[in-house]
Amino acid sequence: MKSLKLKTKLLYLLLLVGFGLVVVGLIGYINIQNIKRNMDTLYFGSLLPLSELNSISSIYHNDLASSVYQWSNQLLSDEQASQNIVQGLDRINTLWGSYISHHKRPEEMAYVKYTEGQIQNIGNYFIQVRSLINDPDRSHPLSLMSMDDNLQSIHTTLQQLITYENAVAKYEHSMLLTQYENALIQLVFFLGVILALVMGLAWTIFARIEVQQQQLIASSETLKHLNLKLEQASYTDSLTGMFNRRYFNIVYEREFKRALRSNNPFVFMMLDIDYFKQYNDTYGHLQGDVALQAVAKVLKTTLQRPGDYPFRLGGEEFGIILTDIDCNNARSMGEKVREGIENLKIEHKGSKILPTLSISIGGICITPTVDMSEDALIHAADTNLYAAKERGRNQVMFSNKL
Ligand code: GH3
Ligand code: MG
Ligand code: MG
Repeated sequence: MKSLKLKTKLLYLLLLVGFGLVVVGLIGYINIQNIKRNMDTLYFGSLLPLSELNSISSIYHNDLASSVYQWSNQLLSDEQASQNIVQGLDRINTLWGSYISHHKRPEEMAYVKYTEGQIQNIGNYFIQVRSLINDPDRSHPLSLMSMDDNLQSIHTTLQQLITYENAVAKYEHSMLLTQYENALIQLVFFLGVILALVMGLAWTIFARIEVQQQQLIASSETLKHLNLKLEQASYTDSLTGMFNRRYFNIVYEREFKRALRSNNPFVFMMLDIDYFKQYNDTYGHLQGDVALQAVAKVLKTTLQRPGDYPFRLGGEEFGIILTDIDCNNARSMGEKVREGIENLKIEHKGSKILPTLSISIGGICITPTVDMSEDALIHAADTNLYAAKERGRNQVMFSNKL
């Protein structure tokens, strides 16, 4: 899991949520279907039959028996009484047909069959009563007592069935409630499981994001540091550790413009080792490099103020920019550098002027004006350097104007 990408992990999280919701939905759907089926069973299997059985019971009393009593008291005509009996029996048959069409449990069937037999018997009895009513001779007397017995018997049978159906309805209702509660518990349980899984996974992902963020911050810090080092390296001469020509170009332009703005003197000096070709020829190129490093060290130690910038411009040529300084002091700084190198007393048998290594310096100290070009100053310093060489080397040539 650790090696998986965050995007994949998030995808898994979404898939898990989706899958979990589908499962919960399915379970919920199945539960609802079960509850609906049980509600149907309760209503159609137990409650509706109850009303049908009650109706049958009341038809026996209110329609059939009552019609016979009224007829016997001559309150109803023969036709009317006969018609009421036919209609009553028809309604009972219809209601009974509807009752047995509902779902019946096997243990219920004994009651049902017995009651059906009873209903048929009572039906036959009332058909006989009807033929008696319709018989003009009245050859058989009608016994109201035996009718009451029959009615009492069917009433008892129906009541037993009603009591049974009632108990079943109560049982089904309690089952329905249990099922409903179980479905609710299941729903809460599964939602809880999904929530726990999602939170666990989300926590893992966010912890990983945090780690990655910290790694990113750390690498960006490293990158910054490396960039700084790279920048420093790109501005540094590898042999002497001094600023190189690339950085010289930047500082020269910047300090020239600053002097122009502030109306302060701008000092630039060019330094060149005397007879260095001969030095290399005498002591070898490697020793030449050592001499270059010694010269660089003098420049670095002599020029240490914040406004002093020594550079290695290339080969055995160096440059110096001085700011916040007047021309007299600038000249003496040049002299100090020259002296410092002479005082190194590096043996130089090839030199035609001294037994030791020396440098010549050409410098310019001027307060820049807008009509002056930056190159003009470099050119002036170069001319003064040439003049210093011409005049015998190991000296400083300085001018205060172009
Ligand atoms: P001059 O007094 O007129 O300056 O005479 P020079 O012999 O010094 O003449 P130039 O300034 O033209 O000589 C440059 C020599 O500096 C050429 C080369 O041998 C040497 N040089 C340039 N770069 C390096 C370097 O990185 N290491 C070493 N050892 N020598 C270098
Ligand atoms: Mg040179
Ligand atoms: Mg030289």
